[in-house]
Formats: sequence, C-alpha cells, structure tokens
Amino acid sequence: MVSNEAGGEAPKQATTLLALSPAEVAQRFVELGLKPFHARIARKEALERGITDYARMTALPLAARERLAAELPILSSVEVERHKAWDGTTKLLLSFPGGARPATVETVYIPPRELASGKGATLCVSSQVGCPVACPFCASGRAGLVRNLEAHEIVEQYVRGREVGALARSVVMGIGEPLLNYANVSAALAVVHDEMGLGSRKVTVSTVGFPERLRRIAPDKPRFQLAISLHTPDQEQRDELVPAMKGVPIEEVLAAGDDWFEQTGREVTYEYVLLAGCNDSFGHAERLAQRLARRRCTVNLIPFNPVDDSGFGRPTELGVARFHQTLVERGLVATVRWSRGVENDAACGQLRIRRQEPAQ
Ligand code: SF4
Repeated sequence: MVSNEAGGEAPKQATTLLALSPAEVAQRFVELGLKPFHARIARKEALERGITDYARMTALPLAARERLAAELPILSSVEVERHKAWDGTTKLLLSFPGGARPATVETVYIPPRELASGKGATLCVSSQVGCPVACPFCASGRAGLVRNLEAHEIVEQYVRGREVGALARSVVMGIGEPLLNYANVSAALAVVHDEMGLGSRKVTVSTVGFPERLRRIAPDKPRFQLAISLHTPDQEQRDELVPAMKGVPIEEVLAAGDDWFEQTGREVTYEYVLLAGCNDSFGHAERLAQRLARRRCTVNLIPFNPVDDSGFGRPTELGVARFHQTLVERGLVATVRWSRGVENDAACGQLRIRRQEPAQ
C-alpha cells in the first residue's frame, strides 16, 4: 500500500511565467523595464485565452515581446506529440524538463458531443509522471512513478488545453493519483478556479480513495467534485485491481465517501471501469448495488479501453447496457461514459507508454 506522499521533487528548472506567482511575475517584468500591469496582461492572456507566445500578446509593447520570450518563457513543457481523433478529441503528449527519466504526461481535450452546441470542452489532466498505484489494466501504472508534477506543470496543461479551445470543465483523471500529490494539485486548482474561471462544480478530482487522506482534506471543503475509483464490489478483487489499496477495506473507502458528502455537501461519484469477463457480471452489478444502497451517489461506468498486452478486454455494448440496467433497477443513479478518440490510444497513458517502448 502506498502510504507516503509519493514521488520525488521535480528537478530545479529555469523559471517560467506560469511558475511564478502574480507578485513575482510583476517584479520580474519591472526588472525587465516593464510595468506591473504588463505582467497582469501577460498572465491573463496565457491563463484566460491560452496564448503561449508573447508575439501574439499585442497589448504588450512590441520591443518587450522579444525580450520576454528570451528572458521569461511562458511554458516549460515541449509538445512531443498531438493526436486528433475524428470527433475532435485531442491528445497531447507533453514533456517536462529535468530528471534522468523522461517526464512525459498526457493531457486530453475532449470537445462536447454536439460540436455545434458552442459548449466548451472537458480537459483531462495528469497529476503525476507515471503512477504508483499500478492498476494492472492501466498503461500509466506500468513503469511506476517517475515524479510528482509541480503545480505550475499542472496549470500548464490547462493553458495548453485552452490553446486547443474553450474549456467548460475538467477532470484530474489522467496519469497519476492526485491525492498522492495533493499539495501541488490543490495549488494548481486554485489558479484554475481563480484565474481561469472554472468553477468548483466544473472540476472533478478522481482518486482511488485513500480514506485517511480524504478525511484530512474534507473539512477544508475543497473546491472540486470528488470521484472515487471503485472498480469492483469485491474486496479480494479490488486488492488485485487497485494494488496500492491492498488491505484497505472497501467499506472504509465508502465510509470516507459518506463523510466527504456530509462535510462538503457534494455527492461522490464512484467510477467503475468495466473489464470484460472480470468485473462485469450480473453478480458484480448486484453486489455493487448492495454496497451502494441508500447512499446518495452516482456510479459512472467506463467501458475499458484496450491497453496493449494488459490481458483485459473491452466489454460489449450489450454487456455494458445490462450492467447499467441492473444498477438502475436497484435504485442507483448510473451513467455510462464511453471514452472518446479510441483510435488514438484513448486509454490513459497508452500514448506515453508507446513512446517510451518502441516496437521491437
Ligand atoms: S488507473 Fe489511475 S490510479 Fe490506477 S494506475 Fe492508472 S492512473 Fe494510476
């Protein structure tokens, strides 16, 4: 079981606009012969409009833009790959500097289903480089944890997502376990709420549900919706599917979810990745319904996206519909979320792993 704040410190890097606080940006701008209001403009342009090139910040003096580009880059990451699916889902593979092992993460921009609706997209961001939880069906856990992402590296994913298009909501559900890097996730979300305008009901943090950690942070009423990845109603199977939670009773996880609801007034969503022939039987649905009976919550069913060599399969549409129906008939609120952009390594961490494991 993972018990400590996981992951080493990110190595020291040259600073960027996004890595500095607003006051530090203002000071740096003054040192470069600009005014504090220029600093506010630059930060606003980057965070609110996703502009990542000073040359396009036309409200800044022309002469200053080149100097800023040389002295204070906006971003620290490099976009290594970009895959755009037929439905507009855009997966970015980003590489952050420093460290012996490559610090690559995935960020996914998921447009609304009705493209013409004019609604903004959902952005799925990563919280760590690699993941220490090591779920056997997930590409992200394969190589373990490389390091935690810094707060500004998380913010940077939002800025890059905003560069792709307007954002309406976000899920911290990419690579990593957010509660094991909570200080940085929380600092990043403060920027996302306060300076990018995404309200607390528009941001979901997804965790495997460490009870002690949830109880520690719930009294602060964090400004996000909570999703707990359950994946099975059976203790023995959860110990296998979510190895970092081995030995933590499911009832304790659910009790921590109940406490969260009491403390924050916000219902918890339970995530359930449906794995063909593994956790998608009628019996699983019935036992899940029993576990969650009389709880005010939503179950989010996620049909598995194939991951190379994982040994797990994608359930059929009929199987998913039956599982869903069983839950609904037993009084649960349940939704199904088919992942988007399947043709482009839609499974979390797949693109990153492919990049690191060249075909033999
Ligand atoms: S499913 Fe989530 S918690 Fe599990 S290994 Fe993948 S990223 Fe980590």
